[in-house]
Amino acid sequence: MEFTWLGTAGFIVKDKQGEIAFDPFLSRGRGEPAPFTAEKSFANTQAIFVGHGHFDHTFDIPEIVKNSDTQVFAPGLTGQILKWRGVPAAKLCDASNRELLFKPFKMRAFKSSHVRFDLPLVLSTIKQCSFKDCIHICGLGLGYPKGLVQTYYFEAGGKKFLFMSSAGASRHELEMYRGLEVDYLLAPLQGHSRIQEIAAKQTEIIRPKVVIPHHWDDFYPPLTQNVSVEIFRDKLNHVGFKGDVLEMPLFSSAQI
Ligand SMILES: [Zn+2]
Repeated sequence: MEFTWLGTAGFIVKDKQGEIAFDPFLSRGRGEPAPFTAEKSFANTQAIFVGHGHFDHTFDIPEIVKNSDTQVFAPGLTGQILKWRGVPAAKLCDASNRELLFKPFKMRAFKSSHVRFDLPLVLSTIKQCSFKDCIHICGLGLGYPKGLVQTYYFEAGGKKFLFMSSAGASRHELEMYRGLEVDYLLAPLQGHSRIQEIAAKQTEIIRPKVVIPHHWDDFYPPLTQNVSVEIFRDKLNHVGFKGDVLEMPLFSSAQI
C-alpha cells in the first residue's frame, strides 16, 4: 500500500481495496507550493475523512469535490460549513462515531479533542505576523471553526492505522487506542510550543509499532513554522518509546 503525505495533516492512502484521503490542504499561502492539485490529484479518491473544521484541514475540499467523485466524511458543524462552501449534500456524510464509515477500510471515527494553543505559541506567532496577517488569520479562524474533532481508525494491507488530526486526546481516550493495538500512528506535531513532548507522551501511551509524525511543516507562514522532528525523536526516547519513527519528507510517498 502507498501513503502520500500532502503536507499539513493531509494524506492519500492507496491500496488494493481503494483510495482514501485525510484532511487535504494544498493552498499553503506563502508556504512551499504543493505538487498536488485539487483538479488532478484526487481523481481516484473514493472518500475524504475530515478530522476537524480548521482551515488547514478543510479549505480545499470544495474545490477537490468539484473535480472528483469522492464522498466527504465530516463531523457535525464542519459538514454544515462544507455544504455552505459548496460541497453538494449528496457528497457529504456525517462522520459518526457509531458505525463503520467506509467498509473497504473498516473505517471508524472516535470523538477526540483539539490541542490547546498555549500562550508562548500564540505570542511567538503574533511576533512573526504583520497587522494585516493578524486580520487575515482572525478571518480564517472565524470562517473555519474547529467543530467536533475526530480521530480515525482504519485497516489496510493487513495493518491497523490511527490518524489523529490534533493532539488533544484525553488519557482515557489514549488508553482506549492502545487497546486497538495499532501498527501505525499518524501523529500531528502542531498547535503547542511543547508539542513534541505532548505527542511523544501520547505515542508512548498508544504504543504503535511505528509513529509517522505529520503537520510539522511550515504550511502557512507566517502563521506557522517548521516543528523539529529531531526533538520529537528525543522526547520519544525520553518517554521510553520502543517503536520506530517513519519520518516522511514533505510531499513524499512511502510503501508500507
Ligand atoms: Zn486545528
